[in-house]
Amino acid sequence: MSTTPPDVEAYDVIVIGGGPAGHHAALHAASLNQRAILVEKESSVGGACVHRGTIPSKTLRETALALSTFRTKTGGLMDLPQSEGMQVASLMTRLEQVIKAHQRYMGMQLTRAGVERIHGRAKFLDANSIEVSDVRRNRRRLSAPCIVVATGSRPRTPPEIPIDHQHLMDSDSILSLLYLPKTLTVLGSGVIACEYASIFAAIGTEVTIIDRAERPLAFLDPELSDLFLAAFTATGSRFLGKATTTSVVHDGLSTVVTTLATGEEIRSEKLLCALGRVANLEELDIGKAGLTATNRGLLQVDANGWTGVGGVYGAGDVIGPPSLASTSMDQGRRVVCHACGLTPGVPPEMIPLGIYTIPELSSVGLDERQAKERHGGCLVGRAPFAELARGQIAGCADGMLKLVADAQGKKLLGAQACGEGAAELVSIAQMAMLNGNDIDIFVANTLNFPTLGEGYRVAALDIIHQRG
Ligand SMILES: Cc1cc2nc3c(=O)[nH]c(=O)nc-3n(C[C@H](O)[C@H](O)[C@H](O)COP(=O)(O)OP(=O)(O)OC[C@H]3O[C@@H](n4cnc5c(N)ncnc54)[C@H](O)[C@@H]3O)c2cc1C
Repeated sequence: MSTTPPDVEAYDVIVIGGGPAGHHAALHAASLNQRAILVEKESSVGGACVHRGTIPSKTLRETALALSTFRTKTGGLMDLPQSEGMQVASLMTRLEQVIKAHQRYMGMQLTRAGVERIHGRAKFLDANSIEVSDVRRNRRRLSAPCIVVATGSRPRTPPEIPIDHQHLMDSDSILSLLYLPKTLTVLGSGVIACEYASIFAAIGTEVTIIDRAERPLAFLDPELSDLFLAAFTATGSRFLGKATTTSVVHDGLSTVVTTLATGEEIRSEKLLCALGRVANLEELDIGKAGLTATNRGLLQVDANGWTGVGGVYGAGDVIGPPSLASTSMDQGRRVVCHACGLTPGVPPEMIPLGIYTIPELSSVGLDERQAKERHGGCLVGRAPFAELARGQIAGCADGMLKLVADAQGKKLLGAQACGEGAAELVSIAQMAMLNGNDIDIFVANTLNFPTLGEGYRVAALDIIHQRG
């Protein structure tokens, strides 16, 4: 006999949040014949990924890339004059189309799978039930033995940075800039900071990145971050590393003044603050469910995404790094498997990293530094795109593929790439590593020509030549 009170609607799985984590959790629950409902407070699904993160930034990047490579790709036959006061919105005319198409397909997938959707803000009543209120303040109570919290994250705003979304922007409001600024200061040198910095630099803005770290994208193989830095500074922009900001103010007129501990002042038309993200937990009343946040404000979960309370799980940005759309999707699937008593498979040891700066950077498995630390040594092979026919044809000769093998030069341990298609390119190495293939597989097989994939043969031969 059901113990659910009459005004409470019962489901098997409730998913809170319709971003990549929630979307995939709901789809997976439905595929396991669970009666699933997805609660989303925005009018459409997609989350930060579709509306303010991955997809808008990548669409803007695509346009920036086309503009900045137009001359090279047309063999210098044509050039595009930079119009004064170019509007950022006009750079993103495709954005609305891309977002709408993505929203539509995400919605269609949910409908096809039979996932119910509800537009409203969720908060916990206890560990098994939530209340959802809509814009008209109508309330619905839902209960389920499994509740997945996938409420994502938002930009972190340090109290000393007076973000006003007009002159001092965060990674959400940067997309609403009306005009392309002549100068831009970027605080932070992580993925989001460097992606936007290089996009704006490519379309003619003079950008200054300021960060405490010595190098941008400090977690990457230094060879990749050096290539990024070289391309970035070649546009006339600069990186100020090991720098501490003491104050940031807008002069009330037209300039943002950023003062460093050294006393140096950096003046720019706009400033982008990209100093991390915070989990969306406040609205959920997690205390009512007996849930706790970590000291970094993330939802506390174990390796299976379980909170340790009833059937409540967390997935995506709300549980913290790596905070990627790619990992969020997989976490959504995993938590539902676990809740249904199924084994979700071995947690991925290898998470590929795609960084959509200009040039694109990507890494999977171990880099040279990590391979030396973990295995005491390694052999490294390189394929500069300049050596590949495709690199010359596509005008991306400054890219590079790097393979990392064990000290005997046999086992593939990792791959890093810089340049066009880098994020796609490392998938080949990822599959080879998952299959336990040796480096030799890239030499003993026929690869399409002319492709950047041919770089695998060039880099593999480079390693083979170094074998004892
Ligand atoms: C500028 C930028 C670029 C990025 N680029 C990439 C990239 O190239 N590749 C990549 O893999 N990742 C990228 N990311 C990261 C990626 O966007 C996030 O990791 C991903 O969106 C996290 O998914 P999520 O489902 O956890 O959360 P979100 O996408 O944030 O979705 C959470 C959803 O929950 C809803 N919600 C919140 N609270 C409630 C509530 N109380 N009730 C109901 N609904 C609620 C929100 O409205 C939102 O729709 C980027 C992020 C940014 C900001």
